[in-house]
Amino acid sequence: MPLDKFGQLWATARTAVEREIGESSFQSWIEPMELVDVNQGVASFSVPTEFIGSYVSRNFDDKIIHCLRSLEPSVVRIAFCVRSTAAPTAPKVQPEVAPSDTSKQSRQWRERFTFENFVVGKSNQLAYSAARRVAEAGPLPFNPLFLYGGSGLGKTHLMKAIVCEVEKNHPHLNVMYLDAQEYMIQFIQSIRNKDTLAFKKLFRSADMLIVDDVQFLAGKDTTQEEFFHLFNALIDQGKQIVMSSDKSPGEIERLENRIVSRLQSGLVADVHPTDYELRLGILQSKVERMRMTMPDLQIEHKVLEFIAHRISTNVRALEGALYRIQAHYSLIRRPITMDIARDALIDFVRAADKRVNVEDILRKVTDHYNIRMSDMVGPRRHRSIARPRQIAMYLCKELTSKSYPEIGRAFGGRDHTTVMHGIKQVTKLLETDNDIQQDVKMLMRALEE
Ligand code: ADP
Ligand code: MG
Repeated sequence: MPLDKFGQLWATARTAVEREIGESSFQSWIEPMELVDVNQGVASFSVPTEFIGSYVSRNFDDKIIHCLRSLEPSVVRIAFCVRSTAAPTAPKVQPEVAPSDTSKQSRQWRERFTFENFVVGKSNQLAYSAARRVAEAGPLPFNPLFLYGGSGLGKTHLMKAIVCEVEKNHPHLNVMYLDAQEYMIQFIQSIRNKDTLAFKKLFRSADMLIVDDVQFLAGKDTTQEEFFHLFNALIDQGKQIVMSSDKSPGEIERLENRIVSRLQSGLVADVHPTDYELRLGILQSKVERMRMTMPDLQIEHKVLEFIAHRISTNVRALEGALYRIQAHYSLIRRPITMDIARDALIDFVRAADKRVNVEDILRKVTDHYNIRMSDMVGPRRHRSIARPRQIAMYLCKELTSKSYPEIGRAFGGRDHTTVMHGIKQVTKLLETDNDIQQDVKMLMRALEE
């Protein structure tokens, strides 16, 4: 299997694992795993710490095997190796399990998470520019740089891109990247091994320290304390620190005030949810890169628009959708049409459906056309009312999983054939009428943001 395949296989399998075990366990345990090899029935994962590997194999072993097997039937067992990203010089905090695939795996992310592969839009412009600036490793522009925003919006990507860039252009600098959980586990290990001095020395030797997901330190008082000292020591020496979190410093509960105010003392850049245009841009760029591995994969532009509309703001979910389509394609070997895409993405789309409900649609459409709700669901048949009503019906069909009769009921008890007719009208008009196209596009966007 080529390298890229593992990423794709795992991206699809892990969505299924998430459904099985729930989001919060997923975030803690499965998220950090990366599939690095599948060989003779054994799927090997790299994990940041031995602890995660052993916890996962104790708790989620069978679920993971099950989800992998539905895509790659040869898998019978999973195995773990610990990856080392932050401790190249300290034997005491090196992983305990031989990381057979570490170099391959880290090469992989170094190719993938670059600034070149990051698509910039309004929502991530500030974070991107700040990260680029830090990566120049010139005179400190702001210290620390604190990136925050929801899951899957590219924080880790940007941080790893900084690492790539600094390693490439300033190889003498000691840039360390790790996530806060890994930091804590290594700290605790050093206490257990009575070796905190080496631990402190190791991290204080960083020229640039990049710590991902610092919200994890909330409530971990001893680790927080140690991190605070490290933070101060590095800042005082003029070393750049970059941190990320899913919350702003002030919103992280159980984080000491003095730490909060130090975190806020540099540049706090938030990454906003992606908007439709950015999603489309990211999809296009990913499809282009996929072409390299699958030369004749054809995806209609309409399909990408469909994904950008229907799938949430999380870029990880967008990628999952593309991988799913790609997997479909490799089975049927025909250009991907809308119907195929709909089939391939049926559960993704169902999950997205939950976010838009009929009431929202009715409200948005009545506002947009400046008509009354009582007219929308009432009997009037004048075109100035009937057309918006049909558009609202169309949106209900597109954006929710409601059936024709259910939609009919929401529109003042109309018959399902009336609904079908209305939707057909709009579908037809969308092919010819520019105004309607614009309206529908705008309403869809407004409803999905
Ligand atoms: P976060 O750390 O904020 O949860 P990640 O950095 O892990 O998010 O991003 C999730 C996935 O989405 C990664 O595969 C990343 O490469 C991709 N991604 C996120 N934002 C972008 C973007 N603007 N351009 C290209 N890929 C992106
Ligand atoms: Mg992240």
